Amino acid sequence: MYPSKFDYHRPSSVQEAVQILADNPDAKVLAGGHSLIPVMKLRLAAPAALVDIGRIDALQGISRSNGSLRIGACVTYNEIANSADVQAAAPLLAEAAGQIGDRQVRYRGTIGGNLSHADPASDLPAAALALGATLHVAGSGGSRSVSASDFFVDLMMTALQADEILTEVEIPAAGAGTGSAYVKFEHPASGYALCGAAAVVTRDAGGSCTGASLCFNGVSATAVSAADAASSLVGSDLSDGAIDSALSGMSIPDATGDMFASAGYRQELARALGAQALRTARDRA
Ligand SMILES: Cc1cc2nc3c(=O)[nH]c(=O)nc-3n(C[C@H](O)[C@H](O)[C@H](O)COP(=O)(O)OP(=O)(O)OC[C@H]3O[C@@H](n4cnc5c(N)ncnc54)[C@H](O)[C@@H]3O)c2cc1C
Repeated sequence: MYPSKFDYHRPSSVQEAVQILADNPDAKVLAGGHSLIPVMKLRLAAPAALVDIGRIDALQGISRSNGSLRIGACVTYNEIANSADVQAAAPLLAEAAGQIGDRQVRYRGTIGGNLSHADPASDLPAAALALGATLHVAGSGGSRSVSASDFFVDLMMTALQADEILTEVEIPAAGAGTGSAYVKFEHPASGYALCGAAAVVTRDAGGSCTGASLCFNGVSATAVSAADAASSLVGSDLSDGAIDSALSGMSIPDATGDMFASAGYRQELARALGAQALRTARDRA
């Protein structure tokens, strides 16, 4: 299949890119192209123009400053998975990025594309939620910051406006006593997650849990936080029993049932993978 005809723009700055988007309401941003090009070839999308942001220097690079990790929107999964800065400051993100697709996908796909596409089965939205990421966005009206918890609105729908570009992802660097894990149960054919669980826990010197987050992708229309289950772990010793008890009553609202798995099966997967992710995070803390 071939895509419909489209104009192609390759801006060299974020300002130029957002201006093109503002002037062309039917234009779409092109990053790694590993989701957009397939849907264009299937004619599920037919944008009048593509705005290729892959050569904009300001959207590249990984840096650490003032206790934060900053990742440009066009940084690839491969760069994230192999970055010493990401492995030190947000190992959960490196672990999730390293499990995406195959080598070709990891060399082309970008963090900005993954989060903006907001596929419910994508791996990075749950990691961004669990890590408390802030997403920096630029549009023709200026710049703004959106917390990951406000970014994912509905199935493949985000808080981005049509003329806005996700420019950078900011993550608070992991502190002492913090451990994390990303665990994925993937569809054997596509490799996409039927369920992915991202857990972060922090323990004090005595081993008590002082903070926990647990988020899932693949289970419902958007990545979702199991905030009640995670907060019930605070003050516990994070024993297997405490984790099982926190997850026993957990129910993900509006779990998806489809030809691959029923809603009930996904709920069970979330409980099993959530426990696995929390135990691994505890052992790493
Ligand atoms: C064979 C295969 C296997 C895959 N397996 C997995 C997997 O296991 N896990 C997983 O998470 N993903 C998987 N993917 C999807 C892959 O991760 C895509 O790369 C990702 O969904 C989109 O990132 P991209 O950079 O390729 O974005 P693109 O395809 O270029 O764009 C995707 C969408 O996001 C928009 N967009 C892109 N960047 C920005 C930005 N900075 N600001 C605003 N809008 C933007 C585009 O306009 C488009 O609507 C797979 C893809 C393939 C082809």
